[in-house]
Amino acid sequence: QHALSTQDPDVYAAIQNEVDRQNDGLEMIASENFVSRAVLEAMGTPLTNKYAEGLPGKRYYGGCEHVDVVEDLARDRAKKLFGADWVNVQPHSGAQANAALYLKALEPGDKLLGLDLAHGGHLTHGSPVNFSGILYEAAFYGVEKDTGRIDMNKVRDKAHEVQPKMISIGASAYPRDFDYEAFRDIADEVDALLWMDMAHTAGLIAAEVMNDPMPYAHVVTTTTHKTLRGPRGGMMLVGNDIENPFGITARKSGRTKMLGEVLDSGVFPGTQGGPLMHVIAAKAVAFGEALQDDFTTYAQQIVDNAQALAEALIERDYNLVSGGTDNHLVLVDLRNKDLTGKQAEQALEAAGITTNKNMVPYDDKSPFVTSGIRLGTPALTTRGFGPDELRRVAALIDRVLADPSNEDVQQAVRSEVQALCDTFPLYDFATV
Ligand code: PLP
Repeated sequence: QHALSTQDPDVYAAIQNEVDRQNDGLEMIASENFVSRAVLEAMGTPLTNKYAEGLPGKRYYGGCEHVDVVEDLARDRAKKLFGADWVNVQPHSGAQANAALYLKALEPGDKLLGLDLAHGGHLTHGSPVNFSGILYEAAFYGVEKDTGRIDMNKVRDKAHEVQPKMISIGASAYPRDFDYEAFRDIADEVDALLWMDMAHTAGLIAAEVMNDPMPYAHVVTTTTHKTLRGPRGGMMLVGNDIENPFGITARKSGRTKMLGEVLDSGVFPGTQGGPLMHVIAAKAVAFGEALQDDFTTYAQQIVDNAQALAEALIERDYNLVSGGTDNHLVLVDLRNKDLTGKQAEQALEAAGITTNKNMVPYDDKSPFVTSGIRLGTPALTTRGFGPDELRRVAALIDRVLADPSNEDVQQAVRSEVQALCDTFPLYDFATV
């Protein structure tokens, strides 16, 4: 008997229902995944009780000898996983990691250049509703209308026109890989800091199934909970042999600090207080998992599955932004199907398939309606789905979207979804 179920049945019931929802549906939100039981166990420990402001060996609180071990394990494993010289595992989330970088890299009013939110970028890359667009002057590059891909010549032209102090790479809804070397050349031409936010693809990069930003970007940030399959959180990294770029030096002390040292202070005391040591323990466990050989197999399977899904959708006359995928997601442009993203998301949800509506490049609908849906394979791949299952999922999606208000179809598909979930079971508990 869990303490939670007797002490607080209301919270327990809601958690149980959420675990059931995860077990019994097809999770296709590209930014989600399922962590292992070991990662869950690490999160649910008394490490949540500990204040540990500072860094291992340099804390502002006593009693940190054991959490120091945990944080060192997380840092060392992350360094090994990505080939990094320096890493900070304390950011509470991806947005927090980015905030710490902005604090140290830019002064309010400075210019930055990033991928347009409507073309797949992220809120923290300069959107006017986010601190990044409120405090700094953001300009954007986008994808081409006909190819759905970034044209590096246009990025170069834009960078020369804007003269940004920082250029960001990284996306939440871009199905292709990035040319980091070309981005670095452009950044060098205009004397900008190059920042890669690899939140979505960190697991694919760790497993070397996608291009590696570490040798080119001055700073890399990420979430730890997407393809990397760790607990919800963030992280910052600096690659081997990256020189401290101009502008990020110790402003007050006479000494020139290491880039990582400066970024550490962007996290604490710059933008956060005490780190979440239970989450850092879970990060260490997840990084340990990602260092195993079978993680490479997993990452390759994510991409193979996304490609099988893409091909099966194209066969059914769905338009995919950029015509396919290099990574874990496909972005479906529903305009030829006379459907909005909102309608598609709702119809699929009723059939037990969780997706999210998403703007497509050059969308004429609002972010609350949209013309597209984003579909990802990381979570289904964790369940053990392979290309055959993804082709079946594509057929189920098509059945629902071909007749989006037909509840009989939704119920019939829901049963097939349940059968698939039963074949690939997930969690057999509510709380650990
Ligand atoms: N950066 C990118 C590219 C993302 O896709 C996301 C999350 O979707 C974030 C940052 C923010 O991460 P978090 O939700 O952990 O703050």
